[in-house]
Amino acid sequence: MKEHLIANMTWPEAEQSIKEARAVILPLGSTEQHGYHMAVGTDTVVSDYVCLELAARTNCVVLPTLPYGQVWSAKGFPATISLHQSTFIQIVKDIVVSLEQQGARNIILFSGHYGNMQPSRDAARELMDEYGYRNVWYLGYMNVEKYNAALMQTQLWNKKTFHAAELETSIMLHISPEKVRMEKAVREEPEVPAGLDLRPIHWKEFSQSGLFGNAALATEEKGKQYLEWWLNDLTQIVTQNIG
Ligand SMILES: [Zn+2]
Repeated sequence: MKEHLIANMTWPEAEQSIKEARAVILPLGSTEQHGYHMAVGTDTVVSDYVCLELAARTNCVVLPTLPYGQVWSAKGFPATISLHQSTFIQIVKDIVVSLEQQGARNIILFSGHYGNMQPSRDAARELMDEYGYRNVWYLGYMNVEKYNAALMQTQLWNKKTFHAAELETSIMLHISPEKVRMEKAVREEPEVPAGLDLRPIHWKEFSQSGLFGNAALATEEKGKQYLEWWLNDLTQIVTQNIG
């Protein structure tokens, strides 16, 4: 089987792969609470898995996953580590500059954690403004609302949040069930605090477990189907736009 992980290559192998691949993918995870029932490395595990599958389908190669992200919302929960937005952007930019100097054709910033999406886009914008790079792309969760409605029994909390709930737990049951303790999975759907989208409010102020929805309804089958649809969408986007 073809090796897609740069970390497993020697430098001469990596030198060739970086130049030949359609794109080098940088998976962006987090170290963040995921309720009482899932490992704090969940977003890193999901990023690892999705990027490797995507690379195999699209002739890309994958860098080691960044296990820290911008996690402002979940600050205050044990084992949640948050990079300042500017630190995250600087790390991403430094990695991209290194790859550009080595002849990468394209670079994909892949966010397996929702909070990394905006700073990833900001990093790509700064890289274009400062260096003229037009080959830095950002991808992550897609069509979450549509697929959640089709597959899951619970709706997204506050119309958009799926953190550690039915959907994300189902994904993990398929990818890495040993990191899920289903007997600890709970349902928690707090009332949306007034002004949540208008001013900064930490989740810790209104959530006990740290999840939003009903994790107990998660199943491996739902996660498998969700991942298949997600990977099909990602594959299509990459093959149609990134050459
Ligand atoms: Zn997550």
